[in-house]
Amino acid sequence: MKKFGFGCMRLPLLDAGDVTKVDMPQLEKMVDTFLEAGFTYFDTAYVYHSQQSERFMAEALVKRHPRDSFTLATKLPLPMVKCEEDKERLFQEQLDKCAVDFFDYYLLHNINSNTYGIVKQFNCFDFIRQLKAQGRIKRMGFSFHDSAALLDEILTQNPDVDFVQLQINYLDWENQSIQSRLCYEVATKHGIPVIVMEPIKGGTLANVCEKAEKLFKDYHPQLSVASWAVRYAASLDNVMMVLSGMSNLDQLTDNLSYMKEFQPLNAQEKQIVEEATKAINESIPIQCTACRYCVDGCPKHIAIPEYFTLYNNHSQSINKGFAIQVAYYANLIKEHGKASDCIACRKCEKACPQHLPIVEDLKLVAQVFDN
Ligand code: SF4
Ligand code: SF4
Repeated sequence: MKKFGFGCMRLPLLDAGDVTKVDMPQLEKMVDTFLEAGFTYFDTAYVYHSQQSERFMAEALVKRHPRDSFTLATKLPLPMVKCEEDKERLFQEQLDKCAVDFFDYYLLHNINSNTYGIVKQFNCFDFIRQLKAQGRIKRMGFSFHDSAALLDEILTQNPDVDFVQLQINYLDWENQSIQSRLCYEVATKHGIPVIVMEPIKGGTLANVCEKAEKLFKDYHPQLSVASWAVRYAASLDNVMMVLSGMSNLDQLTDNLSYMKEFQPLNAQEKQIVEEATKAINESIPIQCTACRYCVDGCPKHIAIPEYFTLYNNHSQSINKGFAIQVAYYANLIKEHGKASDCIACRKCEKACPQHLPIVEDLKLVAQVFDN
């Protein structure tokens, strides 16, 4: 299998403000182009696109291509498992939504110190073992957002998992909260192959600061900035797959152009990435990946990731307070709470896989946009 997979979390939209309005003709074209180029792996989840991503992939992929021409991965939404029966009910619903009778890869979605309690209470690992024994899934694993120590504990207790999905990118490699390097090393120590999520950090590493962009472009004028991030993750020996959540055909075409005949980073390129990492870290105040895990639980309906993007854009803008950011903010607060409406209940912080201090960061947003 080629080392590059199609993430189905950021599908092309007809209306940027509504994740349930997917541009199906564009998605179909993307799926077809991906398969024609010899790639096969698609990664969806119950919760993506307001619980509709699996249905979109059934229409664009499953119903239009032979079952043996693609590899389909999806994930059990742990917070929705409230009793023993929920696991089988949710799994069957996923088979139905995806219009398949088995999954190639099946994951417990987003294990962290909060959701691990659910995993243990409802024996979720035994559940996926059973599914595998029944042939209803081919490979079992989990996605993970927490410390390397917890990952070590889970892999010690469950040495039979086939893979683990980790957030790995060059900006988070040495990040103390994400612990990309440490988690990668734990998985490798246990002999468990790694699937990489967020190699471009939710698009952050496709639009880097001027200094980093110059470093990349001086060395490879023809390669995109995003290509460095995907190649960085794919260059790790124990990485079996790098997922990218592509939102339009241009992004897909760009990714395929360098992943079709993948070349790992050479020593000089690794050095350039290190220098770029320093420059980027200095330039991005809030490192949100726009995964949106925080938004559903917010009692004030605050558009957290959107506000963080606007704040980052504002901070990186030479012309501070540039009207476009202010105009976007004014539009968003018509339907969402303002940054200053936050009541510090911290529900969002518990859901954030990046462990961002959202309440404090919203205060920064409020200082710029609510004053
Ligand atoms: S802490 Fe603020 S932003 Fe977070 S869920 Fe509560 S009100 Fe919403
Ligand atoms: S604040 Fe955290 S949970 Fe919310 S979108 Fe950003 S990274 Fe995701």
